[in-house]
Amino acid sequence: MVNGIKAIRGMNDILPHESYFWSHFEMKMQQWLAAYGYRNIRTPIVEQTDLFIRSIGEVTDIVEKEMYTFVDHLNNDSLTLRPEGTASCVRAVIEHNLLYSGPQRLYYAGPMFRHERPQKGRYRQFHQVGVEALGFAGPDIDAELIIMCSRFWQSLGISGLRLEISTLGNAETRALYRTRLIKYFEQHREALDEDALRRMHSNPLRILDSKNPGMQAIIENAPKLIDDLDVESYDHFESLQGILREQGINFQINLRLVRGLDYYNRTVFEWVTDKLGAQSTVCAGGRYDGLIAQVGGKSAPACGFAMGVERLLALMQETGNPVKQPVPDIYVVHQGEQVANYAWKCAELLRDEGFDVVLHCGGGNFKAQMKKADASGASYAVIIGDEELKTEEVTLKPLREPVKQASVKLIDISEIIRKEHLKS
Ligand code: ATP
Ligand code: MG
Repeated sequence: MVNGIKAIRGMNDILPHESYFWSHFEMKMQQWLAAYGYRNIRTPIVEQTDLFIRSIGEVTDIVEKEMYTFVDHLNNDSLTLRPEGTASCVRAVIEHNLLYSGPQRLYYAGPMFRHERPQKGRYRQFHQVGVEALGFAGPDIDAELIIMCSRFWQSLGISGLRLEISTLGNAETRALYRTRLIKYFEQHREALDEDALRRMHSNPLRILDSKNPGMQAIIENAPKLIDDLDVESYDHFESLQGILREQGINFQINLRLVRGLDYYNRTVFEWVTDKLGAQSTVCAGGRYDGLIAQVGGKSAPACGFAMGVERLLALMQETGNPVKQPVPDIYVVHQGEQVANYAWKCAELLRDEGFDVVLHCGGGNFKAQMKKADASGASYAVIIGDEELKTEEVTLKPLREPVKQASVKLIDISEIIRKEHLKS
């Protein structure tokens, strides 16, 4: 390898034998989102660092230690590779005043960047599909977002995903809860790790999101937010549950659910699997009614979620519908200089007919070319030599079925192949 240069740790190449699986996923994803009236938004991968600090929260894992932040030396701006998509989406919606024409159903898809310890299901460049419903107060839209997830899992053939939901109440709920939590953690200082001690006063809710196994007991016994819940949030949560039950969506209430980002209020939810080891959450989201104003827009309610594509694809491989690697329909084999000109034309005509056609390049005798045709996975070889050039026909040879080859007119190929397929 040139100078031994390799890809950056935790950032993966997606090779052709995997990328078809990604394309399949993307196609299903686009069909699914279109079916619910969500439209695509594409924002830059780099944003002002402040956007993420303001939205995700200063005392969160992401902002404290996971962001790829650098100085643009041309103007000294502090820039960051996006660690998630909601902040950018909200920034764009405000900047272009999209809510002026009413609520918006939006989605984005693409790479996100977090400086985490790479392991199975956890990478430094990973991909998310994020869905955001802005300008809707819910709880109907909260339910729509959850129900549409469930439908997507079905369409991919994924089974065994568990839905966990909870509520974080309003700002006042969290202020009350915060005081109770600080008191509780103060009484259990000895059980807290360094991160927790540091966050105890700045952001005690974050402690509940700790992955430290040694702290799980103290977290388990911590007071629960639900006891401070405001009436409106309680009603919102009840209505959401009502819709989910009515629509046959199974869920568990997990009062321990706190998301890793500060902007959530009221509804939060996660889709969790037991099949991927420690990296078990494939999709997560919730309501973020305060975020638009926090980023500088006119206050409006909103709700959304993001799914981790790598984790979902891993789950699809375990439990999803099988996806076939694409192969060409036809591999065109040819020999002789004049024949080559004819072969180019034939290949284009076959593509006009809607076939995926690989034209042999690089010469070689018929035998060697037929080996390539076979290895390509194509269903048919179209063989063109001097004889075919003279008669303006080609030889059509089925490669995967015990059917004899035959001389045929190019214009008849389409019909012949379609008939063969009807038979098999
Ligand atoms: P986790 O608790 O696993 O770190 P998170 O709460 O940080 O996840 P979110 O910010 O909610 O994750 O992102 C939504 C989804 O994106 C996650 O549920 C997960 O599927 C995926 N995801 C997050 N971080 C990574 C990563 N580093 N590598 C791969 N997928 C990730
Ligand atoms: Mg994380």
